[in-house]
Amino acid sequence: MLPDEVRQRIHEEWLDWQGLGCSIAELSHRGDYFREVLQQCEKNFRSLLNLPNDYHVMFLHGGAQTQFALLPMNLLGKNNRADYLTYGFWAKRAYLEAKRYGDLQLVDIRTSNTPYAIDEQIEHWNLREDIAYVHCCTNETIEGIRLNHIPKLNAPLVADMSSDLLIHPIDIKQFKLVYGCVQKNLGIAGLSFVIIHESLFHQAMLLTPNTLSYTKQAYEHSLYNTPNTFGCYVTGLVLEWVQKEGGLSVMAKRSQQKATLIYELIDQYPEVFVNNVHPDYRSLSNIIFHLPSEEKEEAFIKGAEQRGLLFLQGHRLLGGIRVSIYNAMPVEGVQALAEYMKEFAVQ
Ligand code: PMP
Repeated sequence: MLPDEVRQRIHEEWLDWQGLGCSIAELSHRGDYFREVLQQCEKNFRSLLNLPNDYHVMFLHGGAQTQFALLPMNLLGKNNRADYLTYGFWAKRAYLEAKRYGDLQLVDIRTSNTPYAIDEQIEHWNLREDIAYVHCCTNETIEGIRLNHIPKLNAPLVADMSSDLLIHPIDIKQFKLVYGCVQKNLGIAGLSFVIIHESLFHQAMLLTPNTLSYTKQAYEHSLYNTPNTFGCYVTGLVLEWVQKEGGLSVMAKRSQQKATLIYELIDQYPEVFVNNVHPDYRSLSNIIFHLPSEEKEEAFIKGAEQRGLLFLQGHRLLGGIRVSIYNAMPVEGVQALAEYMKEFAVQ
């Protein structure tokens, strides 16, 4: 979802951006107008995340999965070893993409018991010495599980934050690189964000395309080639909206409030709504549950659609129900779902 105010602004500005009689998508990326949009977007992003000056921000083409390949290309040029932590689908996929470029180790950090939990004992992970980085995903969107504690490691920590950046304050200094797609909490599909500490510059493999080189694009403020100008504009509007709403502490309060509404019902009716994630690791962006049969799930989704509660199907790999409660989803939307779930459970 996009916030209503953002959709409204896009609608108004599409035909006449700042009195120019054209849309932002028609303006040159080298001109002052677009530069200002991009600069403001980066400024808001940095201020929301409290980024120190030695971290650089980029908005690049290609979504999160392109970054799965760009990470090893950009970071394994000098030392080709990296370790990948996994407890869900996306981190494993990041590893599978990256392992074509280097000597990688996949470390599954799930505990073997149910409910699904993460083994936080770093000494159990058997990370290797002398690695270029350790990769993790802070929120597994498909399984609805999050890393609730950021480990302190010797190697630079790199994180996919596609589905949880901006839902709460986070100290980016715990990471040397953070990346993700923007279509969940920062805008619309067609862009990815990369936040990189400058100590990771100049480590790219020779085969890295210039257009996707972290070092080059960071120095050029994402303007080495033509960026997705419309996508950057929308991200700028979303970041402005987050600032206006009160920033990340307000987003965190709302995320917690929305998640609690649904998890409380899951816990109240465990025979109807089955969620196998240990409460400590439950996602605050994506709530996953199953009903006792596929027929019940179909009936649940159909009844929800009749009330205008849309897109509740789980990911195609896992089935079940997925409730995505990114920042733009109002608390009222989740309240409406909670009421429906309660009625469904007692009927
Ligand atoms: N990582 C995570 C955590 C995601 O949630 C997603 C998308 N759902 C991706 C990667 C892939 O993003 P994209 O489709 O932009 O490549």
